[in-house]
Amino acid sequence: MRAIRIHTTGGPEVLCYEDVPTPEPGPGQVRVKVTATGLNYIEMYHRTGLYPQPLPFTPGGEFAGTVDALGPEVSGFALGERVATASGVGGYAEYALAPADKLVAVPEGVDLHLAAAVMLQGMTAHYLAYSTYPLKAGETCLIHAAAGGVGLLLTQIASRLGARVIGTVGSPEKAELARAAGASEVIFYRNEPVAPRVRELTDGRGVDVVYDSVGQDTWEGSLDSLRSRGMMVTFGNSSGPVPAVSPLVLSGKGSLFLTRPTLGHYIATPEDLAWRAGDLFGWIVAGALSVRVDRRFPMSDAADAHIALQGRATAGKVLLVP
Ligand code: NDP
Repeated sequence: MRAIRIHTTGGPEVLCYEDVPTPEPGPGQVRVKVTATGLNYIEMYHRTGLYPQPLPFTPGGEFAGTVDALGPEVSGFALGERVATASGVGGYAEYALAPADKLVAVPEGVDLHLAAAVMLQGMTAHYLAYSTYPLKAGETCLIHAAAGGVGLLLTQIASRLGARVIGTVGSPEKAELARAAGASEVIFYRNEPVAPRVRELTDGRGVDVVYDSVGQDTWEGSLDSLRSRGMMVTFGNSSGPVPAVSPLVLSGKGSLFLTRPTLGHYIATPEDLAWRAGDLFGWIVAGALSVRVDRRFPMSDAADAHIALQGRATAGKVLLVP
């Protein structure tokens, strides 16, 4: 089969499109014939070595397709069944493996491209708004990169929960998308300092929670945007990782709470996975969640997809199609 492989960490040029053996499912694994693979920022970290992987490897944890083969000890899935995962292995390929307990059936009414587009970023938005800091009606949140993949979904979910969303964006086009998703105010964080603007918009009080995927560049402004005893949720490093921080900083800025969550811990049980994926698929079928696919690249052009995502040129989801 054809697949992307990374032999050495580095820039987008290390993504090689090659002939590789089709993977055999081991115990508890399912082989999926991939219809579409979701591009996620974590693959930038795998490619560059920020999150080290054993070399060589095929990136890609999120994909949707049809069940092609069952490994030993797998039950509950039928050959040809439509499935999706956010926790697979080697998704930048024609065939990829997924642990059966991290695979979900895709219901009628959700096409496989949409399923690949919503699993990882959608379940992330879901756990952030429902579990990490369960948003309540009337609360105010600050969402960075509000027109990004996670951002557009989180903005919709937060505003539907009745929260007021202040979003940051990098361009006027992205501002329009964030507003359409439910942001009541947007801040152009490349040109204007975030915290003073947030104070203005909240009559000096600050927001209840910040959902920060940008990391290094937004860290200070995020802490300074919080109300006393507010919650700082730092969940990504799009601009680089946040440097070490002293807990005393949190007391100085108002007895803040700080968490650094990751999706795996929020879909660790079958119940959590079924809840989050079930809600997302249900909302899509009901027309209550809009999943914006920004663009699709052929799998062979994965390098161009990485360049677009890292270059801040995308708004919403990027898909790779084998
Ligand atoms: P996005 O679609 O949000 O893309 C990144 C966006 O971040 C850009 O479009 C850009 O938006 C903004 N950005 C700000 N500064 C930079 C910079 N220096 N370089 C690049 N982009 C920048 O990506 P995803 O939705 O896939 O992921 C968003 C973040 O969330 C990532 O950091 C990812 O690792 C994290 N994440 C974490 C998870 C978890 O469980 N912890 C799960 C899923 C994602 P703009 O132009 O508007 O500034």
